[in-house]
Amino acid sequence: MKLRTNIQLFTSIFMLVLILIVNASIYFLFYQNSVESELDELTDQTTTIISSMKENQEIPPGDLLKAFIPADGMIRVYPETGKPLVRSKPLIDYEKFPGEYSNQEIREVVVYEGNRYATVSRPIIWSTGEIVTLQIVKKLINLKENMKNLLYVLILASFLIIVPIIIAGNLLARFLLQPIKALISTMRENMKNMKWKKIELNNRSKDELYEMEKTFNEMIDSLKENYDMQEIFVSDASHELKTPISIVKSYAQLLERRGKDNPELVKESLEAIHSEANRMQKLVEQMLALAKNKEVQGVESVNLQQVLEETMETFIGAYGREIKLELDETPIFVQGNRDQLKQVFYILVDNALKYSDSTVNVSIEKQDNQVIISVTDYGAGIPKEEISRLFERFYRVDKARSRNTGGTGLGLAIAKTIINSHGGTIEVDSEIGVGTTFKVILQVNE
Ligand code: ADP
Repeated sequence: MKLRTNIQLFTSIFMLVLILIVNASIYFLFYQNSVESELDELTDQTTTIISSMKENQEIPPGDLLKAFIPADGMIRVYPETGKPLVRSKPLIDYEKFPGEYSNQEIREVVVYEGNRYATVSRPIIWSTGEIVTLQIVKKLINLKENMKNLLYVLILASFLIIVPIIIAGNLLARFLLQPIKALISTMRENMKNMKWKKIELNNRSKDELYEMEKTFNEMIDSLKENYDMQEIFVSDASHELKTPISIVKSYAQLLERRGKDNPELVKESLEAIHSEANRMQKLVEQMLALAKNKEVQGVESVNLQQVLEETMETFIGAYGREIKLELDETPIFVQGNRDQLKQVFYILVDNALKYSDSTVNVSIEKQDNQVIISVTDYGAGIPKEEISRLFERFYRVDKARSRNTGGTGLGLAIAKTIINSHGGTIEVDSEIGVGTTFKVILQVNE
């Protein structure tokens, strides 16, 4: 069933049930009230009869009762034993009308020959001194008529209410579904034509539908941005791979042409091909690393000092350079993935060694519930205007130098991806001619 039909059906049925309940209550209350007032009237009349009998003891009570017979009703007197005395208008035969001797007051509505009657029975002292029951009966003619009229009025009122409700339900459904329909058609169009079309925001109140449209547009923006970034990445990656491939190709052609009689050239070409193959391998590995590290892979409690020590060991032997490690006595733990965090420190220390010639300092310190790992070098530094772009994929400040040192421009992008996935941040502080410090800030696991 369509949402529009659902909304309309729900509002109509809900309101119909509500109207029925309200009308039934009105009908029932009106009936109760009317019956009560008729019974009260009869009770008053009983009291009047009793006092009139007391005041006029010279008139035979049977005759006195005649004066009090209600129009469309009767008065009956039940002795404890024997036949009752009936006084009524001759129009209706009350012979079989229910009633009996009772020594307490009874007020009720009785159905007799298809009509409703209000009856009040009360014990009184008769002229003979015995206790009898006086019953007054009155046909509820007006009540029947009034209840019928009320029913018609309520049915008419229900129709008058339900019609606008159906129309309002329809309008509401239209109002709600219009933006949803627009959203569906825009999404379909986008899917079909590979477009990034957005929805035109209406200047209506900032309701949930407006929020939905706004969020949709934001989602389109973010999808487009991601898509563009992917495109740039693919184009950059192809560009990066193109250089080593053409170098390999040209050396292969050189070998083919002049390699046979030139052993020096063979050696040089093979070295170059080997080095470019290594470069391509590194590039591919780093591209995979970039994709792989968008999420933390298996969270554990990681001892950062231990991870830093292990990272340093790899470098100390390989570079033969001085790396100073300042560690705190007490171990600092963070929640994360050991191998991924190790890769970040590896990238930062590797860069510090690549882009400087003297000592590299690595330190770790705890500040409140944060831990800051700093990697400082005393190299050439990074120009201020380049710092904001450092973490972009394939971005290199000095392309030639980076290429010579085997750099791909992906290291810092990988480091940032890993640290972000760990809920941390990475900062750079650099001064030309003085050096550079990279700071990794993570939440401590206490
Ligand atoms: P690469 O593989 O080229 O080193 P990175 O993403 O690790 O790629 O670094 C991006 C660029 O940032 C580098 O090419 C280099 O120009 C610059 N850079 C990174 N670390 C340092 C540093 N410690 N000192 C100076 N420049 C640096």
